[in-house]
Amino acid sequence: MTTSRIAIIGGGPGGLMLAQLLERGGMRPIVFERDTHEDERPQGGSLDLHADTGQHAIRRAGLEAEFLAEARPEDQGDRLYQPDGTLLFDRDGAGDDRPEIDRSALRRILLAALAPGTVRWASAVAAIVPSDSGFDVLTAAGSDRFDIVVGADGAWSRVRPLLSDAQPVYEGVTMVELGFDTARHPEIDALVGSGKMFAVGDNRTLVAQRNGLGHIRGYAGLRVPEADSQRLMAMPLEAVRAELRTAFADWAPPLRALVERGDMLAVRPLHALPIGHRWTSRPGLTLLGDAAHLMSPFAGEGVNLALADAVDLADALLTGERWPAVERAEAAIAERAEPAAKGSAEGLATAISSHGVEHVLAHYRARVG
Ligand SMILES: Cc1cc2nc3c(=O)[nH]c(=O)nc-3n(C[C@H](O)[C@H](O)[C@H](O)COP(=O)(O)OP(=O)(O)OC[C@H]3O[C@@H](n4cnc5c(N)ncnc54)[C@H](O)[C@@H]3O)c2cc1C
Repeated sequence: MTTSRIAIIGGGPGGLMLAQLLERGGMRPIVFERDTHEDERPQGGSLDLHADTGQHAIRRAGLEAEFLAEARPEDQGDRLYQPDGTLLFDRDGAGDDRPEIDRSALRRILLAALAPGTVRWASAVAAIVPSDSGFDVLTAAGSDRFDIVVGADGAWSRVRPLLSDAQPVYEGVTMVELGFDTARHPEIDALVGSGKMFAVGDNRTLVAQRNGLGHIRGYAGLRVPEADSQRLMAMPLEAVRAELRTAFADWAPPLRALVERGDMLAVRPLHALPIGHRWTSRPGLTLLGDAAHLMSPFAGEGVNLALADAVDLADALLTGERWPAVERAEAAIAERAEPAAKGSAEGLATAISSHGVEHVLAHYRARVG
């Protein structure tokens, strides 16, 4: 057993998975999380875990039974509509191996497996300061010194600037997040089918995805310049709905119902780090997940990569060899993320474009062979 003091900044899926794997290996990491408690904010929509990455990490963490109890293999279907409401593609996804799980359920499972006190809630990290004997992690409560700091703090990581000059760049598309209960909105329930629906028009998209507990998460996506995106972010959410009504005014009423009736949850501009982002390894500091390779959700890989990164880093940190092993893990993390980042950028550029619907239809048809 090693006695290194390890700080993980960020209690998202990647950070919590790393903490769990390190604890299984006999270490006692500390997770700094800015949320004040587990349920402080809605965790976002449903995530599908892939066999070789997300599901593999769950198995390595010994959490397969807990995952299977919460996973929804029945929700893997896809539907594609065009703006006049014509259904172009409809597949129930039965037999696929990408079971869905709500993000909040995944977080709950990971948290429940950790030793008491591992996560320090309400601990927004303001800075990491290198010192002679490690790194000082600064929060409002004071400063703590660690030998190793892992940045698992997502898109706007406080750790990444110590390793890389790269900054996330706006990808030209802003998503407005919407929420529905199926009991109150049977028409949306019927529209979505057995998993996820996409409706794709000229530089616009509507997405709705089945979540657990009778909930559906929707997104209205618009290709807009960054200044317009910032204007949307600054508006009251009901004023954003008025903009969406205008943007989707010529779409079929059953599709328009998504922007008319959804609970308005958030405006999310999509950002990405440069494809193939890498950094020069620096003993004591490393990154995983979105902090290392933020990409748009259009490849559906983000959480899977974050979980797989956690496995690689845990294996490296648990070897006696330590930093050379971490450096090799960082190379593996970057190599795995690069094609996903490329696919995600291409997916976004083509799906939300002037002929997006043809691209999305071709993509769905290719997937079913
Ligand atoms: C709209 C949308 C839809 C998505 N859909 C999918 C999908 O279907 N499939 C998929 O695989 N991926 C999807 N993603 C991407 C996925 O959410 C991310 O890739 C994944 O959550 C990354 O996990 P992470 O642990 O690296 O970071 P995060 O989930 O971002 O977690 C970072 C954590 O760090 C905390 N934190 C941040 N800064 C600090 C600080 N200074 N101090 C302390 N704590 C801090 C945050 O509160 C958070 O808990 C989607 C993303 C978006 C925006």
